[in-house]
Amino acid sequence: MDLHFDTDEIGPTRVLLVREPSLGLEGFVVVDNVAAGPAIGGIRMAEDVSIQEVARLARAMTWKNAAAGLAHGGAKAGIVGDPEMDPAKKEGLVRAFGRAIRVLDSYIPGPDMGTNEAAMAWIVDEGGRAAGLPRVVGGIPLDEIGATGLGLAAAADVAAPRVGLTLAGARLAVQGFGAVGQHGARYLGERGVRLVAASDSRGATVNADGLDLEALVLHKASGQPVSTFPGGSGSDDTALVGVDCDIWIPAARPDVLRADNVTALKARLVLQGANIPATAEAEAWMAANGVLVVPDFIANAGGVICAAVEFHGGTESTARQVIQERIRANVAEVLDRVERDGLLPRQAAEAMARARVAEAMSYRRP
Ligand code: NAD
Repeated sequence: MDLHFDTDEIGPTRVLLVREPSLGLEGFVVVDNVAAGPAIGGIRMAEDVSIQEVARLARAMTWKNAAAGLAHGGAKAGIVGDPEMDPAKKEGLVRAFGRAIRVLDSYIPGPDMGTNEAAMAWIVDEGGRAAGLPRVVGGIPLDEIGATGLGLAAAADVAAPRVGLTLAGARLAVQGFGAVGQHGARYLGERGVRLVAASDSRGATVNADGLDLEALVLHKASGQPVSTFPGGSGSDDTALVGVDCDIWIPAARPDVLRADNVTALKARLVLQGANIPATAEAEAWMAANGVLVVPDFIANAGGVICAAVEFHGGTESTARQVIQERIRANVAEVLDRVERDGLLPRQAAEAMARARVAEAMSYRRP
């Protein structure tokens, strides 16, 4: 096993290797930085998960939590194994991992690829701590309440006026009509925004007069692609880049907007629900052409904020309130930095996160 990983002045502060050969358990936790508070980050289960990958993801969590305005540092964990293994064996491994990481009182695990709410409940049952629990044991189901979509709408509250856009009557396109995209459209709909286009992995539906959102959600929930929705005209245009709209929400895969297609974009505001939905070239083009972008780790932080509220014993309604307050404040600070320092939105967001971590570190004993 390659145990080498990078270190610098930010972290990691603690690294734990967990091995229990009799159980076939091998895993690790990288607690990157805890200056702002105990570190939150998911447990990933995959056959090829490595300590280097976990260390990189732990650093990303340090920036993400700081950018979200949470009093939490960043961490990540990995368990080596096939997440589709025999369920009883998986539970045994997760429980053993949970017992082994109890010593790390600065780490709060959450679900990630290959783990879920049940896994977090097993860890708590083993005497540990975790966020992202099932509802019956105090969890706030973030996809059910649409935590990330709610955050996207809060981002729009602050960003839309900066490009002279009034939300009431604005036209929205959603690329990737899943949990994030549907809830984003619903919360923006409460503000008078009209959904005019939506896509999924199989195609798109467009209606310039507005799509019936609830009917489209039901159509999709019945297992049908959006392209067969009777209330719009169907096409195979999954990327939806050139569609006529004011607000564009990518909520599917990385790198949808690239140098070769971004010039077709008609929207004035892009709220990044998906992670890294635009290449660096595409983001530079948008900045130069008056398209305002609220970058992923600012706009889609609703989920991580919800997990933090849950960990502190908050209710669903507190989570809703905190998500909106935090995201509005963060978007305002990022856009102020963009205007003041002439930075791209992503650079401004990174600078804000670094400044917050540096300030938290300045209060620590030298
Ligand atoms: P989801 O699986 O519920 O929905 C994804 C949707 O995208 C589906 O409708 C799928 O058909 C569609 N899709 C897939 N490939 C596509 C393509 N090539 N073109 C068009 N549509 C495509 O997933 P989700 O939970 O809504 O997450 C969406 C994105 O947001 C992911 O990138 C995820 O990492 C990111 N994200 C999610 C959350 C969250 O709270 N769920 C938080 C932060 C970021």
